[in-house]
Formats: sequence, structure tokens, C-alpha cells
Amino acid sequence: MSFNIDVNSPNVRYTDTHIESEYEYQTSSVHKEGNRVTVTPRTTKMTFRTDRRVPKLGVMLVGWGGNNGTTVTAAVLANKLDLTWRTKMGMKKANYFGSLLQASTVCLGSGPEGEVNVPLRDLLPMAHPNDIVFDGWDISSMDLGSAMERAQVFDWSLQEQLRPHMSGLKPRPSIYFPDFIAANQEDRADNVLTGSMAEQMEQIRADIRDFRQSSGVDKVIVLWTANTERFCDIIPGVNDTAKNLLAAIKTGAAVSPSTLFAVASILEGCAYINGSPQNTFVPGAIELAVQKGVFIGGDDFKSGQTKIKSVLVDFLVSSGIKPKSIVSYNHLGNNDGKNLSAPEQFRSKEISKSNVVDDMVQSNPILYQPGEKPDHCVVIKYVPYVADSKRAMDEYTSEIMMGGTNTIALHNTCEDSLLASPIILDLVILTELCERIAVRPQGEEDFQSFHSVLALLSFLCKAPLVPSGTPVINAFFRQRASIINIMRACLGLPPQNHMLLEHKLQ
Ligand code: NAD
Repeated sequence: MSFNIDVNSPNVRYTDTHIESEYEYQTSSVHKEGNRVTVTPRTTKMTFRTDRRVPKLGVMLVGWGGNNGTTVTAAVLANKLDLTWRTKMGMKKANYFGSLLQASTVCLGSGPEGEVNVPLRDLLPMAHPNDIVFDGWDISSMDLGSAMERAQVFDWSLQEQLRPHMSGLKPRPSIYFPDFIAANQEDRADNVLTGSMAEQMEQIRADIRDFRQSSGVDKVIVLWTANTERFCDIIPGVNDTAKNLLAAIKTGAAVSPSTLFAVASILEGCAYINGSPQNTFVPGAIELAVQKGVFIGGDDFKSGQTKIKSVLVDFLVSSGIKPKSIVSYNHLGNNDGKNLSAPEQFRSKEISKSNVVDDMVQSNPILYQPGEKPDHCVVIKYVPYVADSKRAMDEYTSEIMMGGTNTIALHNTCEDSLLASPIILDLVILTELCERIAVRPQGEEDFQSFHSVLALLSFLCKAPLVPSGTPVINAFFRQRASIINIMRACLGLPPQNHMLLEHKLQ
């Protein structure tokens, strides 16, 4: 089901190439002195301009042969081919459940037919997942048909239908520095580049150009869904500035493969997204992206346990209930779990999972004193038998009224890669859309694009990367509202306010 949406307003102009909206952005400036708070409403007029011409999108995945890489590629193929398959539960049909853009809706308002909800994908012109062309790299040479079987995600009868389409897809050789991922990954590293660090990065740049040319796509986005690397030290003179980072790559200093991919991608003018927790975006990489005006986004797909955390803690704290302890266990048996069984790689994940409740806690000084946080513990164990079917067990213990205690325990089971794959699609489609949106504040001559650090992707990331000095928002519905309201602004529509005054007055 898809909708054509026309906005009937003098503030919105449609041309063959653009949608332009005159918009009033309303905020409040707040001054706080002790207990005295002064709030001044502010209105800033601006013009949003969205290019309606949707390019043919190419996506290059680093870690293409992994569980996420094969699953997202196969899922898109299955949707494109409109595949159905039989399981013991009956017939199943390809879909994009779990995708914010493809499978969730937004309420546009109401009319004689009641509330009208439309899929987010219909709000603005954007790429459809079925049209994405995939390519990528992997340190494992296995073709995507066999890699899909190795991943153990899809039912066999679906794999049989997909295999002929997947087997011809072969990952390009990649950059492998054994020091950065777990030693237990070594046995799959049979597809690796050689040469100096600078030569390897040049090869990645050449691959991006080759893909762009040979596939005929208009735009390429590169996304890291390879194994979690250990954290990288921020070393003055090495990775602290763009200039130092580029020089360090020439001399072969301590630069991680993921940072090399980011630099290669930025230099090719392609947005780069980090789906894993490591600190790929060292200050030098961020500076380079800003200098080149290229989008970067991350970190770490927000797919399961953390997604629930960003809903549950928001619910508790905004209800006036005080979470005191959050304990999260995971066990999983896929290659991601194997890699995370090494202490340094687990540490990257632990850091990425640890700050997700901070904004919600800090928003409520009635419950929490300055600096006070709930106890928060994250455990991940590798249990090969459960394969991609990850188990997550969480216990939230909160203080309720008059010294009472409330404990919520959750047990979640599902295929990890089937949660991550729709997020990969949302990340690249949203990023591509943002590349076509420009904003001009009133009184200024030029349109500007969003900041290179694309904070709008926060909804999809565990540890959102935001421009320096900007608040990090983890709360699920605030993040979602940000995406929806910016998309509405592009159409000259006010933010969703849920007041429903039309039903509340006599
Ligand atoms: P996976 O181990 O199945 O796939 C990773 C792939 O990356 C492997 O095929 C491996 O050979 C390849 N690889 C490793 N180093 C590489 C390099 N330098 N260059 C190219 N390829 C390289 O793991 P997965 O389950 O697909 O997860 C991928 C990443 O996504 C992990 O870091 C994981 O932590 C992260 N992640 C996954 C989820 C989820 O729900 N699945 C959620 C958040 C984050």
C-alpha cells in the first residue's frame, strides 16, 4: 500500500525537482537562576528544500559475508522477487517488518474518514530498499550463498530459492589487522589485502569507484557491519586532526581498519555509517568529514536490548518511577558472539551499551541527584548452539512510592540479524534522504545541509554520534519524533503535538 501525499498550503511549493516549504521553527529559550526559571518562546523562520529526484542507491557493506550482510542482502532479494516459502507454521511472505521507514506509520491528521496514518516512506521521496544495489568487502572469501547458509538465519526452503541469486555475489578483499578484532576470527581471514596501509586504503577507494561505475548507481553509501573492533586510543599527532590522520595513514601508524574505511569513503564523497560499537570516528575522521561535507553516522545498531532500554527507562522515569538497577544478560552463538567473547571487543560493546539511559536519568532531578545513576551491568556470553537466535534477559529494579520496590524481568529471543537488517536499510535510506534536504534560515542567502555528523540517525544507533556540544538523545520516542517532525517540516507541516484539542472541547 502506498500513498501520494499533497500538502495544500500556501507555504508549500512543488516544482518538478523540489519541494519547498516555508516553516516556522518554534523553540523556547530558558534562563535558570537558582529556582527561578524564565522561558522565552522563540520563532525562527526557515525554508526547507527537498530534492524530489531519488537517485539509484548503491550500498557497500564492510563485513558483507557476515550474518547481517548476508541477511540484509537476501531479504532485499526476497522482497524484490516477492518470494514466499513454507515453514512448519505455514506460508511466509517476504516483508520489511522492523523497518521504521517501510513498516511504521505516521498520523497526518484527521478528516471525515477519521485519523489518516501513512507509512513513513510515503512522506517524502526516498529510495526503496528493493532498488538498492549491494556490494561490499569481507575478510572471508565465502560467496554470499554459502555465507547465508553459514549464518543460519533463514528457513532452508527460502535459502534454496535465494541461493542461485546469492552465490554469484563475492565480497571484495578487505583490510585485516588482526590486532583489532578477536584472535578467534583469524581462521576466516582468507580474503585480505596486502601492501602498506596507504595502498590498502587506496584499494578501498578504487573499489568504491569501480562499484559506482560498473553498477551504474548514482550514489554510494558505505556501512560497517563487520566485526566489533577494540577501542582505539586517541593519540595526539596521530588521529586527533584530519591532517594528522591522513599523515598517519601514509606512515602506517596505529589506525584501525574501520577508520581506514571511513577515511576512504569520506575522500570518495560517500556517507559512512558505523554499525558497530568501536570508536571508528576518532577526532581526525570527524574533522575530515566536516571539511569534505560528507555525512557520517553511528555508532552501533540499536536493535534489541538497548532499544527496549530506551523505551522502558523513558517510560519509568517519565512516570516518576526511579530505576535503581538495570542488569542485562545476553547469550548468542553467532560469529558476532564469538568475536565479543574476547575481552577487548566485549569492552567496546559494554561502553556502547552503558550510556543509553543517561539523558533520561538526567532529565529528572526529582528522582536523581546530580551525578546519580542507576547501577547498570551488561553481560554477554557466547553459546554456539543458539546461533543467531540471541537471548536477552533484563531485570529493571525501581523504587516506587513510599519505599516500595518494583522489579520488571524480561526475556527476549529472536534472530539478531533479522532485527539489524531493517535498521541497516533505514540507516542508508534516511542518510540518502538527508543528502537531498537543505535548509535556509530567514535572512541568510545560502541553503545549508545538516551537520556532517548526522545526529538524525540516533534513533537507529545504540551510542548516537552527535556534533560536539550537542545533547545526546537516547529516549526512543524523542528520537522518533525528531525524524518525523523534520520530515513534516519538509512538507510545511507543524510538529505532531498529540493535543487532539478538536476532541477535547465542548
Ligand atoms: P558477523 O561476525 O556474522 O559478520 C561480520 C563479518 O565481518 C564477518 O563475515 C567477518 O568475516 C567480517 N569482517 C571482520 N573484519 C573485517 C574487516 N576488517 N573487513 C571486512 N570484513 C570483516 O557479525 P554480525 O552478526 O553480522 O554483526 C556485525 C556487526 O554488527 C558486529 O560488530 C555486531 O556487534 C554489530 N551489531 C549487530 C547487531 C545485531 O542485532 N545483529 C546489533 C548491533 C550491532
